[in-house]
Amino acid sequence: MREFEKNIRKVEPYVPGEQPQKKVIKLNTNENPYPPAPGVLAAMKKLEGHVDSLRLYPDPTSDTLVSALADFYHVGKDQVFVGVGSDDVLSMCFLTFFNSEKPVFFPDITYSFYKVWADLYRIPYECKKVDENFHIIKEDYYPENGGVIFPNPNAPTSIYEDLEFVEDIIRHNQDVIVIVDEAYIDFAGESALSLLDKYDNLIITQTFSKARSMAGMRIGYAIASPLLIKYLNDAKYSFNSYTMNKTSLVYGAEAVKDKEYFAETTRKIVETRDWAEEEFKKLGFVFPKPSANFIFVSHPEYDAKELFEAMKAKGIYVRFWGSERIEQYLRVTIGTREEMEALFAFLREYMM
Ligand SMILES: *Cc1c(COP(=O)(O)O)cnc(C)c1O
Repeated sequence: MREFEKNIRKVEPYVPGEQPQKKVIKLNTNENPYPPAPGVLAAMKKLEGHVDSLRLYPDPTSDTLVSALADFYHVGKDQVFVGVGSDDVLSMCFLTFFNSEKPVFFPDITYSFYKVWADLYRIPYECKKVDENFHIIKEDYYPENGGVIFPNPNAPTSIYEDLEFVEDIIRHNQDVIVIVDEAYIDFAGESALSLLDKYDNLIITQTFSKARSMAGMRIGYAIASPLLIKYLNDAKYSFNSYTMNKTSLVYGAEAVKDKEYFAETTRKIVETRDWAEEEFKKLGFVFPKPSANFIFVSHPEYDAKELFEAMKAKGIYVRFWGSERIEQYLRVTIGTREEMEALFAFLREYMM
């Protein structure tokens, strides 16, 4: 090792799902199979005439987007923080809120980026084992800690825990910040937003990447008490004043305004999921009850890795990790009905 390398921050980065540049049936990164709300295209066309505005920096307060989100969720503008995908928002949260000597708690089977941010910022952490059915054990989060984060529904399991369960964890952790990552909440059940009035240590993060069909735009947000949002903004302005570009602000606001389209596409995905559940069952797959836009499946007779590779060879991409406890599982994003039909046609043939 060269001398200078000793002082280089070394991290083991998060590995995102593949983004193949050819046309495939893409069920590997939980994107939405439907296009963004029609208002986004209209805004795109309108912006074309204003290319000159790109000379200028964007609004550092992201007011257009923050206002649209505050209206949609009936919260104050001072309760909303936006970032470049919820990955950016969550990373800012780790930096801002997890500065204790005590470990931050999160599940062992969960979004694998949590571990990466903890390592990057040198935050101590402890992974709490989910039970044999992949459920989070809430009592594991009662001991003293430096903060708590978990997704609801959890990823990659797709398991949703009800509000009472979520509140129980928050109630036992009122001296630290608790982050509930609701990337998939629109496909599931009640959000923890209603708990914000009761718990000023709660942060909820959500994203435009899944239910709002805009993964390519990179927009995420946090909703919390004005005090926590202020701390987040202080950290953001100490890092990069202009995280959100002009187009994200406009397109994001347009997407939020169209409540009907959002409800309609979300409903379609849930319908396709309900049907896909039955199809997977017929083929002998087992899985925890899904509440997100993906199903976490395993088959008692077929090796997950072999299945993953056979699917990929046929241009059907799903996600496989092969890591501890989930070696025999595949995460399958819910696509359109047609995409799912193609998947099941392949599986029926493969299993003949
Ligand atoms: C997809 C996802 C995110 C991040 O999404 P962005 O595209 O960065 O908004 C965060 N948490 C979980 C659990 C996710 O699955």
